[in-house]
Amino acid sequence: MNAPVITSFVAGEWLPAGPDQQAIASAVSGAPVAYASTGGLSGEALLAYAHQTGGPALRALTFHDRAKILKKLALYLNERREGLYQLGYATGATLNDNRIDIDGGIGTLFVYASKGRRELPDDQVWLDGPVEQLSKSGSFAGRHVYTPRQGAAVQINAFNFPVWGMLEKFAASFLAGMPAIVKPAQVTSYLTEACVRLMLESGLLPEGALQLVIGRPGDLLDRLGAQDVLSFTGSADTALMLRSNPKLLSRSVRVLTEQDSLNASVLGPDIGPDEPEFGLFVKEVVREMSAKAGQKCTAIRRIFVPEKLITPVAEALIEKLSALQIGDPADKATRMGALVSLNQRRDVLDIVARLAAETRCLYGDGPANFAGVDAEKGAFIQPHLLHCADPSSASLAHELEAFGPVSTLMGYSDFSAACQLANRGGGSLVASVITHDPALARQAVLASAAWHGRLYFNDRDSMAEATGHGAPMPHMTHGGPGRAGGSEELGGVRGVAHYMQRTSIQGSPAILTGIGNVFVPNSPQHEGPAHPFTRSFNALAIGESLTCGPRTITMQDIEHFAEFTGDKFYAHLDEEAAKASPFFEGRVAHGYLLLSFAAGLFVEPAAGPVLANIGLNDLQFHQPVYPGDAITVQLTVKRKIPRNADYGEVRWQVAIDNQDAQLVATYELITMNACDG
Ligand code: NAP
Repeated sequence: MNAPVITSFVAGEWLPAGPDQQAIASAVSGAPVAYASTGGLSGEALLAYAHQTGGPALRALTFHDRAKILKKLALYLNERREGLYQLGYATGATLNDNRIDIDGGIGTLFVYASKGRRELPDDQVWLDGPVEQLSKSGSFAGRHVYTPRQGAAVQINAFNFPVWGMLEKFAASFLAGMPAIVKPAQVTSYLTEACVRLMLESGLLPEGALQLVIGRPGDLLDRLGAQDVLSFTGSADTALMLRSNPKLLSRSVRVLTEQDSLNASVLGPDIGPDEPEFGLFVKEVVREMSAKAGQKCTAIRRIFVPEKLITPVAEALIEKLSALQIGDPADKATRMGALVSLNQRRDVLDIVARLAAETRCLYGDGPANFAGVDAEKGAFIQPHLLHCADPSSASLAHELEAFGPVSTLMGYSDFSAACQLANRGGGSLVASVITHDPALARQAVLASAAWHGRLYFNDRDSMAEATGHGAPMPHMTHGGPGRAGGSEELGGVRGVAHYMQRTSIQGSPAILTGIGNVFVPNSPQHEGPAHPFTRSFNALAIGESLTCGPRTITMQDIEHFAEFTGDKFYAHLDEEAAKASPFFEGRVAHGYLLLSFAAGLFVEPAAGPVLANIGLNDLQFHQPVYPGDAITVQLTVKRKIPRNADYGEVRWQVAIDNQDAQLVATYELITMNACDG
């Protein structure tokens, strides 16, 4: 079969192939898999389409609209992932590697779809944090809001995760409301292109939401402006070149970079060869060395173990490494496939040669046996386990990343030395500590968290379910300080914020309520046409309110409540003891009694649109309530969160006052209300 020509997708069209076609070789056979052509793309056209078509279309949607599209897209790709696996084998990836890349990318879409629905509003404005009081009487206040940046999200990815690398960035920027211009690394771009083709064919994306650059992006980067975001994954050298572009600097273009990382794994000093954590440690290291043939940004490059365990750890690692079948990635028995290209193999072996100044090769430099492949044509390599005898004097072992199945084993004297050595990577994406001792885990956090984007602890209690040292979870941040690039991605909705502008909003409570669609205290309230519990989710308006009471609290109520519930805390029943508390002048009503009486005042008993009371938030008691005090309760619609076609969540602000109009309790009540009826 002839290898196809792949081109860029710009301004709603696949560009015709130009004369600039470059062959992309299979990592396995060396035969061409595709010919890449930019199609003569223009940076101006890419940006104009994103700015004028994609951006407005996406910004017209709410977070929930965008989240629903992400979910449908994930389902669409999930049904078609087999075809992507077939292309993935040519990149050198095994079935398991393909699952990490392709299923991992689709899984990230699912997580963002779900988080978008659960954690972001069905709105175009995302409120950040609480209202800040900026005036004495409350007539002027402030809050922070996020809105989508009005530019393009240009996303440049490394070769190692052609699908996950694209989707993990796309999920966040799409949910934020920014159109994406995706530029994959050329050597695996045919797999990204196939995935983009599916995404476009799905018909789910608004026009202009996604464009693809095959090959170099021409003058695109020089044209980026204040509202655009450039997110990059790749080598430190490319990152430095891109982020020091004077045009980007002069326009303060937001640049996020994820780059090389000398990740470490530490075997805790509490673990001996007979502990379950010992086998776990060996398994994690071998998995990280062999998955994607070590071409993972999070792979373990440096292995730290107590000095006295160097030999047993080395023996256990060598036993497992030598049992790995390396070869044809499409063969299900293969545990490690090929590097992405012969160039990549040359680079990895060059770095191994440089590391030889400080290390000795324990495994990997002997004769190799690659199953079912031509070792000359494919980019196969054995895993290399190196040993550095003097890690504290070494420098290359902490600085040179061989982006392949290469790790260096090093001994440490005590745990604080191990943490210091782990930090010598100069900033990493992840460090793992295999320990069963929570005190050691805390020591590691205090000594090392500042140097690593993620700290992964694993032991006998979590090993059955732990997600693995090398797996960035969409819920958790991915990125690290210093050498790792100094940026963050993922981390749930935190990752969405990178594609948005945070703005301080100051004004009257009514203005803030109008902007955020969430009731701000001191905004005008109004009575609805009927009791709010008789009104459907759709009918209720923000600020609609009901005031009930007063109800006087008697000593008899307090005693009855104490008897009935069994809550006989001294402050309710013992006058002298209550007086001794600095907070009370005598016996006080139970807080829960107040809540119950409040409900008794505002609840409409007949069946109606309120389907369930599902909880309350932020309960605070501001003043004690004494026998003889009379309470009044005010219920106000604060926020409405649609859940599905049948019902939605209503958040009510509840304020309980005493007879002197002093606030005694406040909380947020949450009910599920039928949408209609
Ligand atoms: P790379 O050579 O730096 O390339 C990364 C991306 O930058 C590719 O898409 C590349 O496109 C593009 N690029 C290079 N020069 C460019 C230019 N002048 N203008 C626009 N784009 C340009 O890295 P790689 O070889 O693909 O990936 C391996 C490296 O990435 C390793 O060092 C690894 O540590 C790092 N990495 C880091 C992470 C992380 O999350 N921190 C993840 C994966 C990989 P072309 O293919 O067209 O050159």
